Amino acid sequence: MLTPMTGRGGRAGRRRRPGDADVSALVSSWTGALARAPYLPMARAELGEFLTVLARRLVDAAVADPVDLHLARRTGAALVDADLVSAEVLPGTVAALGRHLAEIAAGGARDPREVAPEAQAAVADGYVTRLRARLLDEQEMVRRAEVEARRQIEQALRSSEARFRAIFSDAGIGIGIGDMEGRIVDANQAFASMLGYTIPEFCRLRVSDLFYEDDAAGMWEMYQDVIDGRRDHARVEKRYRHRDGHFMWTDMTASLIRDASGAPKYTVAMVEDVTARRELQERLRRQALHDPLTLLPNRTLFLDRLTEVFARPGARVGVCYLDLDRFKAVNDRLGHDVGDRLLVAVAGRLDECVSTRGHLVARMGGDEFVILVEDPPDGELAVLADTVLEVLAEPVEIDGHRLAVSASIGVIERAVAGTTPADVLKAADVTLYWAKSDGRNRWARFDPERNARDMTRYTLSTTLLPGLERDEFRVEYQPIVGLDDGRVRGVEALVRWAHPTFGLLGPGAFIELAEENGFIVPLGRRVLTEACERAAVWNAAHPDADLFVSVNLAVRQTHEPDLVQDVARILDETGLPPRLLQLELTESALLGPAGRPVEAITALADMGVRIAVDDFGTGYSNLSYLPRLPLHTLKLAGVLVDGLRKPATGGGSIVASLVVLAHALGLTVIAEAVETVAQAEQLRASGCDTGQGWLFARPAAWEDLVDRLADPVRPGT
Ligand code: C2E
Ligand code: MG
Ligand code: MG
Repeated sequence: MLTPMTGRGGRAGRRRRPGDADVSALVSSWTGALARAPYLPMARAELGEFLTVLARRLVDAAVADPVDLHLARRTGAALVDADLVSAEVLPGTVAALGRHLAEIAAGGARDPREVAPEAQAAVADGYVTRLRARLLDEQEMVRRAEVEARRQIEQALRSSEARFRAIFSDAGIGIGIGDMEGRIVDANQAFASMLGYTIPEFCRLRVSDLFYEDDAAGMWEMYQDVIDGRRDHARVEKRYRHRDGHFMWTDMTASLIRDASGAPKYTVAMVEDVTARRELQERLRRQALHDPLTLLPNRTLFLDRLTEVFARPGARVGVCYLDLDRFKAVNDRLGHDVGDRLLVAVAGRLDECVSTRGHLVARMGGDEFVILVEDPPDGELAVLADTVLEVLAEPVEIDGHRLAVSASIGVIERAVAGTTPADVLKAADVTLYWAKSDGRNRWARFDPERNARDMTRYTLSTTLLPGLERDEFRVEYQPIVGLDDGRVRGVEALVRWAHPTFGLLGPGAFIELAEENGFIVPLGRRVLTEACERAAVWNAAHPDADLFVSVNLAVRQTHEPDLVQDVARILDETGLPPRLLQLELTESALLGPAGRPVEAITALADMGVRIAVDDFGTGYSNLSYLPRLPLHTLKLAGVLVDGLRKPATGGGSIVASLVVLAHALGLTVIAEAVETVAQAEQLRASGCDTGQGWLFARPAAWEDLVDRLADPVRPGT
């Protein structure tokens, strides 16, 4: 800014005052000189005004006596203050003043040739002095700024270091710094205390002291990779040994610090104690693999171990599958709490006797336990099963109840080759079922033949119904022959099954199954219908023959409410007179609880149907009930007839007495399984009415038999 300055012209009035023309000549020349500078802080017009002010001041200085050097110096300084500091300013100013100042000074008291250089020099001096001062100021400012900047950097560094220190020292996780030689150069309190050391003690260790032989594979190599700069980070779960010997688990991150040139300088390990987390994981894992009630290994753990055995080729495996007998009754009678405590007690006994032998015992669920024996030595499983039954035999005392415990055990032992864990478990389960069905409180060993039989039974029972639908059942007939004349009095209908897989099956293979699942009812109806049809047709063709047909009736059928109705309907539909139908029932069917069977039999007998006692002599052989039932025929079982072969056993007299008795009760007698002429002769001599057996004819298809029915049978043909 231009500051108006006042000159000190005291004697101006005495001398010629320089005219405006002189001043404007100076200003014009001065402005022209300065305008050559590459940089001007003001516009040219403004410069002109500014220099006019200065020129006037110089005039005042020059005309003063003595020359006002102070004012001249201030004029020079004013140039600097106005930022006119280019290289052209001083020479241009000196030149312009040199040209015009003498003239201007001519109006003064002194010789202008003296005054002009003096004033010129003073202006130059003022300019240079102010410029130097200004340069010095600027240098000082720069220096100060530099000092301030450095101070700020140092402070920032110091505070960042302090912050880092604070983090390092106070951090909850352990931090350790190692150099490239494997020395620990620094560690924080957390790391040192974690392993039971003070910081100085800890720093005396080497990194290698913190690696152990049983570290997970590859851990040391990973550290080497970091040191060698092949990787900048590594993160692992690593164990550290506490000074007192126990181990702790940590989550450890190792990082590499490089110097300015990029060369590896330090390693930093950050270590977080994760022991509690690992313990929790371990606890959860244990919970997942153990039964919470008995604390025994659970099914999952057992299956894992079993699968492991199967991973070893050539291994053998033994399994005892155990189920408590009648455990449900304990739960039902005494409540689940007592049941649970019983299971805990049993688990404890099992664990005690099994783990001492080095085997695994697991709870499979409910009251089922399983023992796994790897590569069982000879006889081990038998001893083990006996021992288990023995340790369970001692009653368990709970809440004042003495509970008798027993178990059934399925034992299986086999080479793992060629089988699977699932097969082994299935076989063990089947064997356990045998032990149960054989009477409980025992162990059974897996028997492949029994298993095959079971499988066959199972297959048979599931194919009975489809077999009936596909018409796989057929009926054969066996003649019942008069012992005196050889005339065929009747035929017994005997069912067979042409099974698509097993071939032709006799009734022994499937009647029991059919009784168990109720299938005997539709099957029996089918046999009865066919037999009645055959007999009706034949009798229609031979009106004098009176050939009866004898059909077996299973116990189950006698309980069917529709039995009497069914029989009546079939007789009606086929046209067979009821007296030509004989129904054979075993003693057990007749001797069952009074009620429906007896009623049904009575109703059938009332219809005129003949009722025969089949296989008499194999069951109760109790004659006392015979008079109470509406019976027609007694069939002497094959065993009695067979007894006739050995006279010494008195078989002959038994048969003879039975015949007499039967006749006394008004029953006719059929002897079964007559195989020899001697038997036939003896039976005839004893008064037995008819005989049935291979001696006369084997059971045969109706077509093969029908033409011979009218002829007397000659034994042996
Ligand atoms: P069952 O009623 O005692 O039938 C006589 C059995 O003796 C028949 O056996 C017959 O083949 C056999 N047999 C005949 N002659 C002789 C002989 O001289 N010596 C010997 N050792 N045996 C002889 P099968 O056909 O095996 O029938 C067995 C049993 O199956 C029958 O015994 C009967 O209880 C039952 N059964 C057969 N068919 C049926 C049926 O349709 N329904 C019912 N519920 N049971 C039937
Ligand atoms: Mg029979
Ligand atoms: Mg019989």
